[in-house]
Amino acid sequence: MREEVENFDFEKVIDEFEKITKDAENVQKETLRRILEENASAEYLKNLGLNGRTDPESFKACVPLVTYKDLEPYINRLIDDASPILTGTPITAVSLSSGTSQGNRKFIPWNDELFKTTVQIYQTSFAYRNRDFPIQDGKALSFIFSSNASQKKGGVVLGTATANVFGNPGYKSAMQSLKAPSVSPHEVIFSPDFHQSLYCHLLCGLLFREEVQSISSTFAHSIIYAFRTFEQDWEELVNDIKEGVLSSRITVPSIRTAMSKLLKPNPELANLIHKKCKGLSNWYGLFPELFPNVKYIQGIMTGAMLPYVTKLRHYAGEVPLLTSEYGSSEGWIASNVNPKVPPEFATYAVLPQIAYFEFIPLPQLDGTQVELKPVGLTDVKIGEEYEIVFTNPAGLYRYRLGDVVKVMGFHNSTPEIKFMRRSNLLLTINIDKNTENDLQLSVETASMFLAEEKIELIDYTSYIDLSKEPGHYVIFWEISGETSDQVLAECCNCLDKSFIDPGYVTSRKVQGIDALELRVVEKGTFQKILESQVARGVPVSQFKTPRCVGPTNTTMLQILLDNVVKSYVSTAYN
Ligand code: AMP
Repeated sequence: MREEVENFDFEKVIDEFEKITKDAENVQKETLRRILEENASAEYLKNLGLNGRTDPESFKACVPLVTYKDLEPYINRLIDDASPILTGTPITAVSLSSGTSQGNRKFIPWNDELFKTTVQIYQTSFAYRNRDFPIQDGKALSFIFSSNASQKKGGVVLGTATANVFGNPGYKSAMQSLKAPSVSPHEVIFSPDFHQSLYCHLLCGLLFREEVQSISSTFAHSIIYAFRTFEQDWEELVNDIKEGVLSSRITVPSIRTAMSKLLKPNPELANLIHKKCKGLSNWYGLFPELFPNVKYIQGIMTGAMLPYVTKLRHYAGEVPLLTSEYGSSEGWIASNVNPKVPPEFATYAVLPQIAYFEFIPLPQLDGTQVELKPVGLTDVKIGEEYEIVFTNPAGLYRYRLGDVVKVMGFHNSTPEIKFMRRSNLLLTINIDKNTENDLQLSVETASMFLAEEKIELIDYTSYIDLSKEPGHYVIFWEISGETSDQVLAECCNCLDKSFIDPGYVTSRKVQGIDALELRVVEKGTFQKILESQVARGVPVSQFKTPRCVGPTNTTMLQILLDNVVKSYVSTAYN
């Protein structure tokens, strides 16, 4: 394994990516040909009459654009029936996607081809990252959790995309080669209880504090969650180090055994960490204090993760924040090849060799566009927004992922895209159209009143209340401290005024939509939401706070409603 680490040639990865992206159009054709040839015997493709043709024109003429709903019956069948339904070689594993952004969990076919693309994308991002931010042989404090034990159903293993990646026999060596082996033992990553796993990740980070060169997670939320937990539990962690005895809260025997091998009484280290924590003002600059050799913080920080960047920066002080990749349980899409760009402006370069990509031009937000005419990877236009569609080697053909991206430029001939939002509307009552992005902007603007009071917005979500006519928007906020009713009433008015979509503004003026309500929830409410999702099997590593609670998500709505401590009604349009 050591040999593999030393032989890994990052310059070669960059050269290869430069070469591939200079010839993106042909690479795309070749990728499509390979996918169609390898899966020619799949029932799905056979029924569409491709008859062995693999060119993009025939492909588009024969194969329809689909959403998850269209493929669901096939996927349900392949779970019970190990025949070549969507892929030439029957699928043996299925990932349960978090579904936190859309509400419904999805079963996604998974195979070794997807693992290969995972390694490719990690290597590409790492090669560019390492060029700008070189790290020596060190370790990563990675908040990765694989708590969802895979179960077998029919002939197929049901897991999560992250569990499928972390559990792959090639994962450990891939991470070694990327100079990012986790500080935590395997038993901690594969814990059946994520609270215990998290506590031990933090403990391992402290024990190996000098070796930690990067702090990472799949989605940035996990890092924030981890260090909010640290703020609560740090004295207990320090005590474990001092005494060399693991807290009794860790009950999983395999974790206790693994951790006891690492833990020896170390009062000197305990005192040092204690002093450092006490010396910080409101935890500003916590990361470099705890981990003196940390070079960067890394994870997905765009889209739904952007609201956590302020808090990450607070913990990170001067340490740079690097957003990593763009992908989904269904498949990877793009790498960040300009890691110096801050998350707010980050773009991702599409990897033309990992899937066949198409882009549906927007606008078609209301779904009325009759004919969807996707364009190819190299035909997109700078400044335009598109819904992303891909065909991958794990049985998804012309699959509409449901994400909207904007083309910001090109890396050679492959587009550099910015994630904009999920394609579905989030908040709509009548003629109003507000996306998750509009909500984010409105929340960002209104929360400035909190910042003036040195109060943080911990998390937020929204809900359409139609219980009485006319309906209205409800925004739920969890905030870090107490502030006056006056400030919160101002926030509420500002939220209402910051939805500038003409449909909303008009409806508000003529009272077709009632006054927006801001409901402040008790501290810890969003943690309860995370826990309720984890209890239903959502992987912590892929957790995203749902930004709108649908009427069918009664559990989450109930948690929110049960924890409201204050509410305010907007007077912005009175
Ligand atoms: P999941 O399948 O649970 O891993 O979630 C995948 C979804 O997360 C994608 O469809 C996007 O909506 C979102 N996502 C993934 N990567 C990024 C990124 N780099 N920036 C913004 N959103 C992302």
